[in-house]
Amino acid sequence: MSERTGDPLRDLAESTRAFYARFDVDPQSQLQGFITNFNEEVYELVQAALEGTDKRHIAEEAADVFVTAIGVCFAAGIGVEQIIEQVYAVAAKNDAKTHDTHVVKDGKIRRRVNVQH
Ligand SMILES: [Mg+2]
Repeated sequence: MSERTGDPLRDLAESTRAFYARFDVDPQSQLQGFITNFNEEVYELVQAALEGTDKRHIAEEAADVFVTAIGVCFAAGIGVEQIIEQVYAVAAKNDAKTHDTHVVKDGKIRRRVNVQH
């Protein structure tokens, strides 16, 4: 088992990297298979969320999505540090969004379109 850092994303990414290494799986030679796995896990998460009765099961499926998303990144040649860097970039971008810049429309938070008069 890989060393835990207390940073869940870093720990999960490192665990995932070590998992594939332990089974001699080279992610970069398995892109299509990793994408298939990811799509299956997204489907399972969606089904669990739609059922909505077993919160623990939904969380388990979400974790499966995270793991397989990391696998797709590895298969595409993206490393742990680049994933983490991008997670913080997205968080900073979302943190900067306000009601002045964005609006909720159709269940999605979208950039506010300035209407010129
Ligand atoms: Mg699953």
